[in-house]
Amino acid sequence: MSSKFWSPLVSQLEPYTPGEQPQVKGLIKLNTNENPYPPSPKLAALLDQAAINNLRLYPDPNNGGLKKALSDYLGVATDHICVGNGSDEILAFAFQGLFKPDSPVLFPDITYGFYTVYCSLYGIEYQQLPLAENFDIALDAYINHTANGGVIFPNPNAPTGIAKALDDIEALLKVNTESVVIIDEAYVDFGAESAVSLVAKYPNLLVVQTLSKSRSLAGSRIGFAVGQPDLIEALERIKNCFNPYSLDRLAELAATVAIEDVDYFQACCAKIIATREWTAAELTELGFDILPSKTNFIMAKPNTLPARELFTALREQNIVVRYFSKPRIEEYLRISIGTDAEMQALVAAVKSITAGR
Ligand code: PMP
Repeated sequence: MSSKFWSPLVSQLEPYTPGEQPQVKGLIKLNTNENPYPPSPKLAALLDQAAINNLRLYPDPNNGGLKKALSDYLGVATDHICVGNGSDEILAFAFQGLFKPDSPVLFPDITYGFYTVYCSLYGIEYQQLPLAENFDIALDAYINHTANGGVIFPNPNAPTGIAKALDDIEALLKVNTESVVIIDEAYVDFGAESAVSLVAKYPNLLVVQTLSKSRSLAGSRIGFAVGQPDLIEALERIKNCFNPYSLDRLAELAATVAIEDVDYFQACCAKIIATREWTAAELTELGFDILPSKTNFIMAKPNTLPARELFTALREQNIVVRYFSKPRIEEYLRISIGTDAEMQALVAAVKSITAGR
């Protein structure tokens, strides 16, 4: 479709296609890396009449309560933190506010699909550097390419699930001093090392996290960035030129409770990691190749039938996983980690589909 009323920018945009969100009940939904456990149980007691009555008021545009909780949890000052409507929004602010549009921004060839979309939205040049044969991010290529407009990659990477060690990230930061390096830590809580500890040392480092995965709040849309105050100020400026109230009152309440309830968060992460390891072992037993995951999903390559065929067969059994029809990963399925019962059902379905192959 096109229209004479569209701006030239809109005409050439290729929007991001989110994973399928089927609105039918009874599916085992393992396709968009949501947490199978509910948000902190402490939230329910706070969703009272007073919280509802307060919805008549605008939220705090500075999100002081949430920033304070994050500051206590992360051990960084509140002026090092920007919060937003999902880490997608934070990433959008960062692409627009911190990357240099005229030198290529570097990111992996297999990574989060939104990065190319933000580049086209904001007119930013980019270059995708190939992952190594084993799907690891080959940081040498970035280290040899410091004339860039910025660097971004998820750690752990998505959709591969593979994590880089903090020392490798620091080696990049030591040489890449003239442009901003963004580490997208959407999945860091499931077994990788966070780069937040490097923020004090590297003025060009921005770490982005989300409450959608490890804090079970995908439906509430909350993300945040940690960086030195001048980087954070750039994000705040964009936010305040666009939507000063990007986080609603209920989202801020849910996020604050989720950050403060450390015990519940840690218990959920530990459970998901244990279920991930069980699922990986079971699928390996069934002849799959599994990439080493530090996330709440696994990339699994079936060796007895094409991935696309298995995707369709699972769907017929009401199990939804993610298939990417893209070079290098078209033989894999990305499977989010659900509850033990959901993963047992997945393994049983895989066994019945692949029996005799
Ligand atoms: N980064 C990565 C690598 C992701 O996979 C996702 C989730 N699709 C996001 C960022 C965005 O998460 P959210 O907007 O829900 O915080």
